[in-house]
Amino acid sequence: MKRFLPDKIRNVCFAGHSDTGKTTLTSALLYAAGTVNRFLRVEDGNTITDFDEEEIQRRISIYLSLAWLEYKDKKINILDTPGFSMFISETIPGIKCSDTVGILVNGVQGIEIQTDKVFKISSNFNVPVFFIINKLDKENSDPFKVLEQLKHKYGNKVIPLSLPIGKEADFKGVVNLMDLKSYITENQNPKAKIENIPENLKEISEKTREELIEKVAEGDDQLMQTFFDKGSLTEEEFLKGLKKSFLNRDIFPVFFTSAASMVGLEPLLQFTTEIAPSPDMRKWEGKNPLSKEPLSFESKETAPASAYVFKTISDIFAGKITIFKAISGTIKSDETYFNSTRGVQERFGSINTIQGKQLSPISEIYAGDIAAVTKLKETKTFDTLCDKTNQILYDPINIGEPSISFAIEPKSKGDEDKISNALQKIMEEEPIVKSSRDPQTKELVISGAGQLHVEIIANKLKNKYGVSVNLKLPKVPYKETIVKSAQANYRHKKQTGGHGQFAECMIQIDPAPRGSGYEFIDKIFGGAISQNFRPSVDKGIQDAASKGILAGFPVVDFKVTLLDGKEHPVDSSDMAFKIAGSMAFKEAAKKAGVTILEPIYNVEIYTPEEFMGDIMGDLNGRRGRVLGMDMEGDLRIIKAQVPLAEMLTYSSDLRSKTQGRASFTMEFAFYEEVPKHLQEKIIAQHKKEKEEEEE
Ligand code: GDP
Repeated sequence: MKRFLPDKIRNVCFAGHSDTGKTTLTSALLYAAGTVNRFLRVEDGNTITDFDEEEIQRRISIYLSLAWLEYKDKKINILDTPGFSMFISETIPGIKCSDTVGILVNGVQGIEIQTDKVFKISSNFNVPVFFIINKLDKENSDPFKVLEQLKHKYGNKVIPLSLPIGKEADFKGVVNLMDLKSYITENQNPKAKIENIPENLKEISEKTREELIEKVAEGDDQLMQTFFDKGSLTEEEFLKGLKKSFLNRDIFPVFFTSAASMVGLEPLLQFTTEIAPSPDMRKWEGKNPLSKEPLSFESKETAPASAYVFKTISDIFAGKITIFKAISGTIKSDETYFNSTRGVQERFGSINTIQGKQLSPISEIYAGDIAAVTKLKETKTFDTLCDKTNQILYDPINIGEPSISFAIEPKSKGDEDKISNALQKIMEEEPIVKSSRDPQTKELVISGAGQLHVEIIANKLKNKYGVSVNLKLPKVPYKETIVKSAQANYRHKKQTGGHGQFAECMIQIDPAPRGSGYEFIDKIFGGAISQNFRPSVDKGIQDAASKGILAGFPVVDFKVTLLDGKEHPVDSSDMAFKIAGSMAFKEAAKKAGVTILEPIYNVEIYTPEEFMGDIMGDLNGRRGRVLGMDMEGDLRIIKAQVPLAEMLTYSSDLRSKTQGRASFTMEFAFYEEVPKHLQEKIIAQHKKEKEEEEE
């Protein structure tokens, strides 16, 4: 298979709001370039980049996926990303690993919430951006209105590189401002007809190209001088300047397309291959894994080898598929590479190019290119692989935290192992997913990016791994604690037949600071209880505390002082002292008074201003405390502290309140006392559950 040197490679990520046509555009480009001999459509469920069962059924992209095409001797790797904000954790690595981001904008709807999100992520990673205004064949589409919106939002760096010919159903071609020719598409023919610019568009085409030339000149002092001296730039100067301005994000070019009718594709391909940067024009910063000093290798095939893993697929047949970008050097089949993230060697089998789900073996790839290798043992997503004698380490990508948790249980008993194995594979594929057994509630809790996401995982467990599950809201891990200090003395005495049981202990319990847990202090004077029985008192107290006093939740944040006691030379035993300890604790706790604590979370909500009032009112109803507010561009950020018990359905509630335009993150902050009237409900609920269990 043909190999491509770094300067012949282009990595383009298609990002944007859902339903803007990213997958369709990918399909159309693959067809236009002759990679496939048919236009594969989302509606037919056979596109190259939406191949997952869940994606086909739901007709949405859920995962980052890859395809590639060859155009004029260059290899274009396309990273097709999902547009739902819920799946942003798949989009982020796609943007990071590309060298150009094409942001698709709906030609009818204009800018949508995800447009700006992916623009910001691209800015954070400093990746050059162009816009594609798509769906221009549709009724009520308006290319110039959307163009104005983009200019208004992102300033005068936004500049068209093509112009539409015709409108709505008559949108049949574009003027390419790079060569001042028009490209007309007839009957979705993948090859456009190249013609002269129509008379009525000549003036605007020339004017827009003039603006473009001026803009390009502004990005380079020398070109600016030439432009002033001569009033224009030569073709060579213009192209050189265009490359530089695009790479430096001094311009954001705009293209006009109808992916569904194959219109406007050629200028896009031309721009990508002739102007957009090859990977060797961009730098990946890493560090020395030992000294942690900054380090980077040249993106050249001759540099030391290094690769960055940005996706893992768990395939029923092929096993684990690790997808990586070669950052430097040459990555070869059947070599051993060092995983510098985990400090282990990985033996590679064949490496493969990736066309959707299709892998094709290749002997080696060069810096900048993307490939897959199967059956690595230890390597996970966001790991670095490199040459052991020339080590480098690239940082993991921050993809955020999951926002919603569900308790998950198998429909049939005995499927527990199956679930854990399957979840392990799902977590390997989707680093945003977390799952663990709550040590307190004993529930298997799974966290994802939204309710739909967790439902998709549940479906996957059933369809791919053959295990049906129920999803429930998880239990809140309440705790109990004591209110004040108290003392108790307990004598455990039993005379049954021969050997009796005897132990007596006197303890004091005191409240301790929140989060401090439990402490046992031995203050026995002399030998009232022998040294070897004292740990049994401690053990008995811990046992009783773990079972709770009020509602079965573990008692925390207290200390116990063992003050005095008695023992019997024959009848005392570890067991007797355990019982005495446990009973003394229960008595003392009742005297001291017990209260219930609940976990409070720090919550940050990102919302357009219009929903602020609603969100604040709603937080109030959830017993939330608003701590402050911030602004980030058009978004308002509300910072609050809210009890976990009130946040269990927040993800879907917020989504429906704001049509999905607000998002939030949350993390555990501290435990705090539950208001008394709610404690009564919790205690009643616990009683009911216990009765049900006993029935
Ligand atoms: P994505 O979510 O951004 O990947 O969008 P898809 O490629 O899945 O497209 C969403 C829907 O819009 C599908 O029904 C496509 O057939 C349709 N679509 C995509 N591009 C165009 C276009 O240029 N014109 C029209 N009329 N429909 C399009």
